[in-house]
Amino acid sequence: MKFTNNNLPDLGRRKAIRLVGMGAAVGMGALASGSSSLATPNMGNVSLADQVGSFFQDHYKRMSPEEIQEAIERLERKYKSKYQVEVKVGDPKPLPDVLFGYALNISKCQGYRECVKGCTAENNQSKDPNLEYIRVLEMDRGQMNLETADPYYPSTEEVPKPGKFYLPIQCHHCENPPCVKACPVKATWKEPDGIVVIDYNWCIGCRMCANACPYWARKFNWTEPNLPVDTVNTQTGYLSNRPREKGVMEKCTFCAQRSREGRMPACQEACPTGARVFGNLLDPDSEIRYVLENKNVFRLKEELNTEPKFWYYSD
Ligand code: SF4
Ligand code: SF4
Repeated sequence: MKFTNNNLPDLGRRKAIRLVGMGAAVGMGALASGSSSLATPNMGNVSLADQVGSFFQDHYKRMSPEEIQEAIERLERKYKSKYQVEVKVGDPKPLPDVLFGYALNISKCQGYRECVKGCTAENNQSKDPNLEYIRVLEMDRGQMNLETADPYYPSTEEVPKPGKFYLPIQCHHCENPPCVKACPVKATWKEPDGIVVIDYNWCIGCRMCANACPYWARKFNWTEPNLPVDTVNTQTGYLSNRPREKGVMEKCTFCAQRSREGRMPACQEACPTGARVFGNLLDPDSEIRYVLENKNVFRLKEELNTEPKFWYYSD
C-alpha cells in the first residue's frame, strides 16, 4: 500500500505516529541485518512479520476474535523472546450481570502495605523504578486531608504509628471516569462490568488521562519497565497484567485476569487484616452489598461527580 497525504489520516492518529518510527526502524534494521528478524532493545528478538503485524494492529474494540487471538500470539512470542519464559495471555470477558465494586475498612487498615506488594507481584509492574497502583496515605487521626497526607512514610518504621491512620487509594473505577473522557485516541474505556481498562497497544503515552484523574490512579512508564525474569507473573490478561513497555500508561484493573474468573483481587488476598471487601454490586447477597447497606460508607472527592465504585468505612 502506498501512503499519501490523502489516505494517511485513515490510519488514525496513533498509527500515523508509529508509522514514522516503524518505517525508520524497519528500513535501517533490514538494511543493517539483511534478515527477517529484528533485534530491538525493548522487544527482544521479534520477527519482522510480528513487528509489522503489531504495527497494523487495530484498537482492541475493533478487532475480530481472530485478530485478537493473533495479537495475543504475537505478544506471547515477544514475551518468550524477552523474558525466556512462557507467558500466557488470556482475554477474559466481562461476566453478565456483574458490576464490580470495592470497599475498604479504614479502622482495620494498619498501613502494612501488603496490598501494594501483592499488587505489584500479580500485575507485572516495573520493580526498579517501582511502579505501584496503590498509594497508602498516612494521616493524623481526626483529619482527612488528602493533599497533606504522607504517601511516602518509611516502610522500615513500625506501623501503625501512634496518632496516625492509613488510607489506601487505587483506581476507583468511576462510573463517570474523567480519564476516559480525556483520552484523545480512546485507548481507555469503561467495560460493562465497570472496570476501566487501557489497550496498551493503542496508548500513545500522552498522559492526558493522568492529568484528569483526581485519585492519582494512572501510572506512566517513563523508562523501560524493569521486570526481572524471576518476578514475571506468567498468567496474564490482554487488558490487565500483561507486561507493558516504556511510554505506556497503566493502572489497576481490579485484577480483571482474576476477578473475571471468580477470584479475589491480589490486594484483597494479600491484606492480613481483612480490611478489603470486593464483589458484585448487582448481587444482593454479596458482602460488598452488605457493607454498602449496613455501614456508614463514604467516597473520596464525591463533589467531582465521578461516581467512584470504591467506598471507605470504619467500624
Ligand atoms: S496516556 Fe492516557 S490519555 Fe494518553 S493515549 Fe494513553 S490512555 Fe489515552
Ligand atoms: S485490584 Fe488488582 S490491580 Fe487493582 S490495586 Fe488491587 S491488586 Fe492492584
